[in-house]
Amino acid sequence: MTSTRCVHTIDGPVSGSASVSKEYHSTAPCGTAVLLLPAFFICATLDIDMDYTAVTHTTTDRRLGRLPSGRDVSVTVHRYVGGPGPTVYIQAAQHGIELNGPAALRRLHDRLTDAAIAGTVLVVPVVNQLAFDHRSYMTPGEYDVMNPNLNRVWPGDECGSLQKQFAARLWELVQDADAAVDLHTGTADMLEHVRCRAGDPAAERLAEAFGTSYRLTDRPEDNGGDGSSGTFRAATAEAGIPVITAELSNSRRIAQDAVAAGVDGIQNLLRARAVLPSEPEPQAAQTVLRNDAEPVTASESGLFECRPDIAVGDTVDAGERLGTVYEPASFEKQEVVTATERGVIFSLARESVVVKGERLAGIAIPR
Ligand SMILES: [Zn+2]
Repeated sequence: MTSTRCVHTIDGPVSGSASVSKEYHSTAPCGTAVLLLPAFFICATLDIDMDYTAVTHTTTDRRLGRLPSGRDVSVTVHRYVGGPGPTVYIQAAQHGIELNGPAALRRLHDRLTDAAIAGTVLVVPVVNQLAFDHRSYMTPGEYDVMNPNLNRVWPGDECGSLQKQFAARLWELVQDADAAVDLHTGTADMLEHVRCRAGDPAAERLAEAFGTSYRLTDRPEDNGGDGSSGTFRAATAEAGIPVITAELSNSRRIAQDAVAAGVDGIQNLLRARAVLPSEPEPQAAQTVLRNDAEPVTASESGLFECRPDIAVGDTVDAGERLGTVYEPASFEKQEVVTATERGVIFSLARESVVVKGERLAGIAIPR
């Protein structure tokens, strides 16, 4: 750690010399009911005496679970603690190829360690170490055949599959937060945007403060009726915690503009929650889109040739041709791909070899 206030320990600030220790899994037996109390939204400007004090930074190795070999899997948790105030939880790299989130959080670290804040910022830069180390989007099935996508298992289950156990351990941090941010990275063919639940003013304020040009909103019923889709955002919103997902293009590499958008967005969000003392910087009006249109999927397998004159951000009409799927060996046309609804294209297939049922485009409807 670079700061003399930085220590590496178990629970919160420890004075004196740095030490290294680990958090271990709770010993609650399988089958024990775990009551997850909703974290109530705390408006820093109403209920808490804000006291901006110099940050104390600590890091913790938090044990999430055990691999078949017996080796533990743990993640690094950063805690930036100031005076009394709200707690904001931020995580990145649920998907192992999404690198701009961790890069943005390294820059956030540099800004927070010398800051005075009110409240606590919890940061987990690499949530999914297994996928990260394998340079894969999802966790390899060898580790969890039941749930390879970490972002489908929230709020987790301490007696569930490996990744459900991971999520349950992290949820112990999330459930006490007053706001949460989940950093993702789209492909080059996805609009940079934030996502939040429609009709959740606190989440919408977070999204506005984050400041991307586009905001995609969805309703609880778009996530399985009660947030049961298992995404971090759905589970956290269902627990009553304002939450946003940020999609920072591009994946697999560090894109400096995306990193800057991420760290500036979080800093402004922390100002909006009064964790940082200055007023949030005003952002340009976001284009708000509803994320409830049917995605465009391939009805045939083959080689997808996208229309060359369309790109993400374009508005298309229902039924408008987006491209064609060909059989590459016989040259036969398999399918004319058309837009499901009138709206803005926010994602387009990057890989041209497609199989039946694969998503080719995402369309969102202006609100
Ligand atoms: Zn992702």
